[in-house]
This record gives sequence, structure tokens and C-alpha cells, in this order.
Amino acid sequence: MTGPIGSLLLLGASGDLAGRLLLPALGQLFDREESRREVKLVGAGSEDWDVDAWQQRVRTSFADGKVSDAAVQSVLDTTRYHKADVTSPEDLRSLIDSCPSPPALYFALPPSVTVAACKGLQQVSLPEGTNLVLEKPFGTNQESAASLNMLLAQLVPENQVHRVDHFLGRSTVLNLLGVRFANRLFEPMWSNQHIDRVDIVFDEQLTLENRARYYDSAGALMDMIQSHLLQVLALVAMEPIATVDAVDLRDAKAQVLRACRPWDDDPVGSGRQARYTRGTIDGREVPDYTAEPGVDPARNTETLAELIVEIENWRWAGVPFRLRSGKALRQRRKEVVVTFKPTPHLPTGLQGKPIPDQLRLTMGPDRMALEMNVNGPNDPLVLDRVSLDVDLNPGRLPAYGEVLAGVLDGDPLLSVRGDTAEECWRIVDPVLQAWREGKVPIDEYDAGSDGPASWD
Ligand code: NDP
Repeated sequence: MTGPIGSLLLLGASGDLAGRLLLPALGQLFDREESRREVKLVGAGSEDWDVDAWQQRVRTSFADGKVSDAAVQSVLDTTRYHKADVTSPEDLRSLIDSCPSPPALYFALPPSVTVAACKGLQQVSLPEGTNLVLEKPFGTNQESAASLNMLLAQLVPENQVHRVDHFLGRSTVLNLLGVRFANRLFEPMWSNQHIDRVDIVFDEQLTLENRARYYDSAGALMDMIQSHLLQVLALVAMEPIATVDAVDLRDAKAQVLRACRPWDDDPVGSGRQARYTRGTIDGREVPDYTAEPGVDPARNTETLAELIVEIENWRWAGVPFRLRSGKALRQRRKEVVVTFKPTPHLPTGLQGKPIPDQLRLTMGPDRMALEMNVNGPNDPLVLDRVSLDVDLNPGRLPAYGEVLAGVLDGDPLLSVRGDTAEECWRIVDPVLQAWREGKVPIDEYDAGSDGPASWD
């Protein structure tokens, strides 16, 4: 941990991630914490922008984040942009020299360009305290993630590498810590003794949204399950931690992920995949996925993926963790659902069939619900189902803002550690390979449906 960082060097400042997510989140962060954070923003990219063009980019992105005029002005006063080839050691050297203090280098670049930039950095003497921030996907399999880790290890210590998974900045995901460890109620029940199954679901109504260049060679399993949903699983299933710091938290996550494997160690039977066809979502006509611009149907990319993971340890043996994510579905469903085991005995005289209790943590809007059985409204001996529902407090920042706060504090708490990044690939690699070899058929579902009818 390096402590507060004074310069943010945004490589790929002209790209989509920078404009749509990073700059608005950065503006919100500056806005909320104006008094304590002084960071000089340096942008670099392929566009030949002058001062006005860059300032306009910052202004527009900050406006998207509803950033106050004062915060906008404080950034505009000092920010600079440089046209550069970020894979060239000379360009990288002069970009780093233009920063007033050891920077955080944010690689908002296509993955292959990030690797080339890191190779370029091998020829640059990095100031002590430099931090590196990498986006997903981190590698394309366990082997490439391991070799990227080796490259990074030659540049800076592991604690100065931030592998971003913005799900770890989502307030509901962070709420798992409070719900699990700040209550007496759940933790004693948090095991295969009382829990029947866990579902971690991220269903979107969004379709490809012109992201074929990236998505068509990734697919739902790689895009969502390999990264985000396994990170959520780790927070749901890890052992209790003594301290919320980068060492304890990341050790606990790594430990549980090391115990994960596809259900029954069967890469074919543990998952299923599907792709959307023409349909309607909320009245909007959606074309067949294979007819979307930039899609190569021969790639057989899935837009809906499901993987059952088992955790081979004392606490979780036998409990399926179902991870599912898909696009173009009927409804947004983004939640963790913990289903408890049935009660061992219903007293004779109580009528009805008790449904197992469920704890539901929903993302965006952030809510928590405990669904349970109580006595009914008329005949008190007939069971009724109720849901104890609460809105969770909104996070102080959007997910990317929370992640950036960690980066600028020089604190890797919310970053994915190198061994964990490799571990997540180890879990999904055999499944991806089985899918690529055609061992698992790709089902179809109409856009706007709940998925293939055969999956019900
Ligand atoms: P883009 O292609 O939109 O942006 C990358 C930027 O880097 C472009 O402006 C590109 O310029 C520039 N660039 C490429 N090569 C060089 C170079 N040698 N020197 C200088 N600039 C260069 O990609 P995204 O912003 O969408 O994605 C960036 C990263 O973030 C990827 O790893 C992606 O997976 C990840 N990510 C993106 C998300 C998103 O919603 N966009 C969400 C989550 C992660 P040019 O176009 O001229 O080549």
C-alpha cells in the first residue's frame, strides 16, 4: 500500500470506458471528497486533441456524472492531455515525467494494447510508488493471466497492482460484509448445515449494444461469470475475516476460490449456454444476435450462461452455487439468493406447506428481502408467506467511483489479487474448452423471454 496518490495517468483517455464510466466516476469522487483529495489528471490517447477538445471531453463526462461546477473547475485548472502511442517506451517515459508525483497508470485500453504498454514500461524506470490499474478481461485463460502477472511483477510490487472488478465497488456487494459479519442472525446459519443452495444471477435486458468487437469473442461465461460473479461468490462464501483490509479480505477470497470447481468436477454437465434470437423487449424489436453488426455466427458465442460451482470445503460441501448471466432477457434480475433448507418438522395442526426461507440481496435498486413463513391472516393455523423488505442505503459513490477511491488511496482492498485472477480462470477454463469443442449444445431463446423454455 503506497498511500494517497497525487497523479492519475489515464491511458486510452479517448476511449469508451474512459468517457462513459471512468471520468464521470472520477468527477463524482472529486466532488464528494474535494477537501482531501488533490489529484492531477493526465489523459493520453490516440486522438490529436488540443486543450479545448480535452477540456470539453472532461466537461461532458463530468456532466454525465452530475459533478458540481466547482469540482469540474478544479480539475480543468490542472488537467492535461497528450497524444501518445502508449506502447512506445519513449512516449510512456515522457507521459510519466509529465506527472508531478508517482502516478497511478490506468490502462483503459484494449487488452492486447495493455500488454504491449506493460512491455513498453519494462524499458522505463518507474518512479517508486507507481501504481498500475488494469481492466478486465485480465488475460483470456489461466496461462495468459499467469504470464501477464509475471510481466506486472517485474514492474511494481503486487500491492501496487489494481486489477479492477467494479462489482467489488457495488454497494450491495459490499453490503455482504455488513449483513454477514455485523449480525448474529446469519453467520451461524451460513453453511451446508442450513443452506440448500445459492443463486448469483445477473440477467440484463440490454442486448449487444454495439459491443460486438469485444463481446463476440468473449461471451457471457467469460464476460460475467469468470470475473464478476465469481468475485461475488467469494464474498458470499469466504470464511469470516478479522479485519476489512487488503490482506485479510483478499486472503479469505483466495482461499475459498481455491476450493471451487465446476459441479462434480464435470465441465460438460456443470454448465449450459444459450443465444438470443429475434424478439421484443419492452416493446423494442431486437434482432437475432447473429444478425447484429460485427457478430460472426461461426464463433457460436453464448449470450446466456449458467455454471454450477461447488466449493470443496467443510462449510460448503454439497451446496450448489448457481452462477447465471445473460443478455436480452425479459427482466433485469441482479441478485444473490440464499435458499435455506426446509424445516425438519412442521407441527401437526399447522396447515400448508412451508416454503424454504430465502434471503435475497438485490443490486440496482439495492434491496434486501427475507422471505419466510408466518401464520395466515384469517385462520391463524394456515401458513402464509411474507417478505421482510428493505431498501439498502445507497453507496456514497457509483461502483467505479469506489474502485477509483481505492486506487487513489493506494489501497488494493477492492482489487483482484494476481493469484485470484488466475484462480478464476482455473475454474472456468475447462468449461470454456468444453463449450468451444462443441461438447455442450448452444440453446436458443427469444429476446425478451426468460431464457430457453427447456431450462425452466
Ligand atoms: P476503446 O477501444 O473504446 O478505447 C481504447 C482507447 O485506447 C481508444 O481511444 C484507442 O484509440 C486507444 N488506444 C488504442 N491503442 C492505443 C495506443 N497504442 N496508443 C494510444 N491510445 C491507444 O475500449 P474501451 O474503452 O471500451 O475498453 C478499454 C478497456 O476497458 C478494455 O480492456 C475493456 O475490456 C475494458 N472495459 C470496458 C468497458 C466498457 O464499457 N467500455 C467495461 C468494462 C471493461 P483508437 O480507437 O484510436 O485506437
